[in-house]
Amino acid sequence: MKTVAVTKIGSLRDTNEETRGVIGVVDFPEQPLGPEDVRVRVAYAAICGSDPHLAEGFFGTDVPIGLGHEISGVIEALGERATRTGLKVGDRVAGNFLRFCGTCGPCRDGQQQFCEFIQDYNRPGMAETVTWHESQVYKLPDNVSLLKGCLLEPTSVAVRIADKTNIRVGDRVAICGGGPIGQLALQMMKMNGATSLTLIEPIAERREMALRHGADFVIDPITENQGERTKEITGGRGYDIVIDASGSPRAVQGLLDIAAKGGTVIYGAMYPHDFEMPLNLSDYLYLKELTLTGVFISPYTFPRALQILPHLNLDELTQSVIDLENAADAFEVHISGKFPKVVIRCNDLDDNGGNS
Ligand SMILES: [Zn+2]
Ligand SMILES: [Zn+2]
Repeated sequence: MKTVAVTKIGSLRDTNEETRGVIGVVDFPEQPLGPEDVRVRVAYAAICGSDPHLAEGFFGTDVPIGLGHEISGVIEALGERATRTGLKVGDRVAGNFLRFCGTCGPCRDGQQQFCEFIQDYNRPGMAETVTWHESQVYKLPDNVSLLKGCLLEPTSVAVRIADKTNIRVGDRVAICGGGPIGQLALQMMKMNGATSLTLIEPIAERREMALRHGADFVIDPITENQGERTKEITGGRGYDIVIDASGSPRAVQGLLDIAAKGGTVIYGAMYPHDFEMPLNLSDYLYLKELTLTGVFISPYTFPRALQILPHLNLDELTQSVIDLENAADAFEVHISGKFPKVVIRCNDLDDNGGNS
């Protein structure tokens, strides 16, 4: 079974070909279909900002490392006991690449994100098929195409970020980073009644995209003074909610300063293992009473992500589609930043039903 994988560890951005990471298409065996499993013929798998981190060996260096966790597809087989959610062969689906076991300590204590067996079903989805436990699979609404359906997983991350903001209608909100998660979080914050909604992003196209999708203001952190612009936009108060969706050590440094007193700062990305950010406890936690939090993975969000998916504008996130055979090219396009999102077509499937 053809699967997109990291075949050599190294940064995909490395200009030296000798040390640069390599993405290729390898042959992996199809996973066995257990009695509670669902086999999905994958239609689309989107490249995630975290995928290049896997090429750098963030989660281990034994190659090949199969990729892909933002997928949609059509059910092709069901185990004999995979009947609890009413799934049928031919259903158009997307889902959670992680299975929460439901039995370990954290799972039984309302913290599925810390499930101790979370890797058991974490299988590469940038492949011809993927086999998941039925609890991971969600039927797509009729009005969501397979192409847009592959964005269910990143949408679930934005839902989780929204959950952690505890937003109140009227809160002033800034988002740092205009990649897919930042753009999805922006649309969601808008729906939640955000005001002074600002995207901080150095790439002009991404700022313009945000303005087309509900941002009230944008800040270019390279050419503008972020602190001064924040004062202008918020009347000197700062943002009640600041979301980092950039994962950039350079970008996150100033975010505590643009947060309002009593505000919440959500670090909603992955960060380099060895990055340490200085934190003045007196300024930020004593005098400003900031709440600082992060997002690891997204438990309890998929049912709501599925509800909100038809209401999001996903056109600009699904413009670049490249066939599985050309996965290496697809990653090059991703790295170039030419498109906010690059999607890999894993099989050319009929999209009966998806009409948008
Ligand atoms: Zn992702
Ligand atoms: Zn568990």
